[in-house]
Amino acid sequence: MAVVSEPGKEMYALVERLYPLCRSITGDGVRATLDIVGEYLPLQVHEVPTGTPVLDWTVPREWNIRDAYVADAAGDRVIDFAASNLHVLGYSVPVAATMPLAELRAHLHTLPDQPTLVPYRTSYYAPTWGFCLAQETLDALPEGDYEVRVDSTLEDGHLTYAEHVIPGQVPDEVIVSCHVCHPSLANDNLAGIAVATFLARALAERDPYYTYRFIYAPGTIGAITWLARNAERIDRVRHGLVLACAGDSGSLTYKRSRRGDAEIDRVLEHVLSTSQRPHEIREFTPYGYDERQYCSPGFDLGVGSLTRTPYAGYPEYHTSADNLDLVSPDAMADTLAVCREAFAVLDRNRRYRNLSPYGEPQLGRRGLYDALGGRSDTRQAQMAMLWVLSLSDGEHGLLDVAERAGLPFDTVAAAADALRNAGLITT
Ligand code: ZN
Repeated sequence: MAVVSEPGKEMYALVERLYPLCRSITGDGVRATLDIVGEYLPLQVHEVPTGTPVLDWTVPREWNIRDAYVADAAGDRVIDFAASNLHVLGYSVPVAATMPLAELRAHLHTLPDQPTLVPYRTSYYAPTWGFCLAQETLDALPEGDYEVRVDSTLEDGHLTYAEHVIPGQVPDEVIVSCHVCHPSLANDNLAGIAVATFLARALAERDPYYTYRFIYAPGTIGAITWLARNAERIDRVRHGLVLACAGDSGSLTYKRSRRGDAEIDRVLEHVLSTSQRPHEIREFTPYGYDERQYCSPGFDLGVGSLTRTPYAGYPEYHTSADNLDLVSPDAMADTLAVCREAFAVLDRNRRYRNLSPYGEPQLGRRGLYDALGGRSDTRQAQMAMLWVLSLSDGEHGLLDVAERAGLPFDTVAAAADALRNAGLITT
């Protein structure tokens, strides 16, 4: 039996708490989600008014829903929002009517190829109402009149997003972004939120080099809003990672930034390949999650995307089967471990200059051989020092050294620390 790590259990417990909430791109479901995340991390919550221009978009009206159902002639609810928030089309306008099934059908969404599952559907920008249900439920509905009710409001309000910042030694930033706009979908939404939250907690325990900014925002419009409000200071963002689909049983998938050779791309590829985990590296495409916004050509940030099974790549995607059974503590703990490892590498990947570049400096005289005495990996540590000295020309970083020397990054970084303390290299 697999030993479930404590962070794994805690992340799963967070997913369980968030699962019932009816999130959307605006509204109280997002706020309630951020309130819960705020119990784990201090969050700065931003409320951006409806109508605010954001890049080429406009913050939409705020949507909130209290109840929705379709009831048969006997008054029994045959489709019920209270049973699952997936049953209502996201952003449905209010309706209170009675109509025959033939008329209602135009507003019903099913998955004929997955007849037992309820689809997740939204209509953010075309005002309409609708219900989602299993094809087999629809097939069992007799003709006749049905009472239709959506008790929602769509009115001027706000778009809500949140940030958590871990100050670093330098103002240069790493952003970690996850979407918070899906209702009861566990892998596509909640697992990413949970991993981001526990990653932030882990990073805060050490004194990071970079400043880390965690962004919890609704997909697309939220990332666009964040970019619009941070365009002036976007040069500070040096690296970034979009986290999603972080808890299913599939192996990890890293999608490169649009640049394709950004430092974050090299770090994730290095960590995934040296960790011996089965994994896949994919090229950038202008689709998927919010990497498409962060990597849009005007910003062109070095932001990649880490998922397990990628966007739209599993049969449960955007259906009622993306539930608490699809995600596991172990899978989330594994995603978290890779993120922690990757940021540990990113954070230490400095470029150094050899201050004694004419001939090999005498290491023994400086106690650098003695310092390593007795270690079983002495030879490897010694090679790491020689490689760091050799490649510290101001052009190569420690990840270049690790890759060219075929040595573990940690060994190379430890060698660099020893050489810096001995005054032989500097940044
Ligand atoms: Zn989605």
